[in-house]
Formats: sequence, structure tokens, C-alpha cells
Amino acid sequence: FFLTLEGIEGAGKSSALPVLAELCHQQGYAVEVTREPGGGALGEALRTIFLDDSLHLDADEELLLLYAGRRDHWRTRIAPALAAGKVVISDRYEDSTYAYQSGGRGVPPAHIAALARWAGITRRPDLTFWFDIAPELGAARIRGRRPDRLEQEDQAFFSRARAVFAERCAAEPQRIWRVDASQPLPMVHDAVRARLAARLAA
Ligand code: C5P
Repeated sequence: FFLTLEGIEGAGKSSALPVLAELCHQQGYAVEVTREPGGGALGEALRTIFLDDSLHLDADEELLLLYAGRRDHWRTRIAPALAAGKVVISDRYEDSTYAYQSGGRGVPPAHIAALARWAGITRRPDLTFWFDIAPELGAARIRGRRPDRLEQEDQAFFSRARAVFAERCAAEPQRIWRVDASQPLPMVHDAVRARLAARLAA
């Protein structure tokens, strides 16, 4: 079972991850917790490059790095874990590429789809939680943390990213489940826990 967590900065997806992993353990599943950008050895090395301010990556360079990393992530971690019957939980995956590189930075979505096909990574997650929050509120939540390269983007960037998550959620309602991430964290955690439990039981 392949679960991904998506959303803009400060939505709380990373804090929900251990809660969801714990639920899977309680239900007797082996769990593989991972993330993007990163996940595999190549992807983690590329993440450092991806987040390096001094490199001034353009949108296409970002996209190409992400797909090199995703191919490695898929091949070395996700596919083997799914084949072994594990639940894979990834903090970000392909929906973030559409939201950030396409919505945020303006790469044509067809380029992303073509690259995914070319790289042979077309398996969709079984379930995606979209932690939806207004950019102002997300930004307020991460204030105090040292921002990485992309967290310094303006709110219009995150509004565009959010709009892409919304479009994708509307297009694939069976896969993408919107969580109101503006609620207090315990409520957010209860909501995603209940939803995942129901899906694993189905
Ligand atoms: O989710 P996390 O904070 O670990 O992501 C690291 C950074 O990479 C974030 O600033 C995120 O916005 C950015 N990112 C991106 N494009 C992606 C995925 C992540 O710009 N496709």
C-alpha cells in the first residue's frame, strides 16, 4: 500500500507522518517511511543540491533533478518495499512536482508527465493526504524555523501550488483526500488516522 503526504509549507504533513506509521505498526504492517526530494541514496544527495541557494537552479533543472532522484527512490526503496508487502509512506511525491515546478514555477505539466513516462515511474499512490492550509497560516506555523531556499518564496507561489493541489484533488477524488490542515494538530491527526485505518481495512 502506497501512501503519500502532500501540502504546502507549514501544513503539518511531516508531523502527521509518525502518527500514521504508528497506526500501521499497530495494525501489524511493516512500514517504510520515506520522503522526497530524497528517499534513495541518489535522491538524498540530489536533495542537498536541490536546496542549495548558490546554484540558482531554473525550473527545468529542478524538474530534471527531481526525476533522477525519483527514479532512484522508486527503484531502490519504494518498489522493493511494495513488493515485500509493506506500507510505504512518503512525505511528498509526484503531486508536489505538479504543485511546485508546474504551479509555482510554470513548467508545462505535460513535461512532467512525459518525464514520468520516460523514466518508467507511472505508479500512482493508492492514497494521498493533501494537508490543505492557507499560505499565510502555513507561513505563520513555520516562522521561527530557518527557512530553506523554497520556503522563502512569496505567498503567491504557494497560492499557485495550493491551487494545483486543489485541481488534482478534484480530478482524482478517489486517490486524493483533502484534510483541513488549519485545524489544531490533534484533530488533523485523528482525521488522517481514521481515514487510513478505514482504507487499510477495506
Ligand atoms: O517537504 P520538505 O520541506 O522536506 O521539502 C523541502 C523543500 O523542497 C521545501 O521547501 C519544498 O517546498 C521544496 N520542494 C520543491 N519542489 C518539490 C518538492 C519540494 O520545491 N517538488
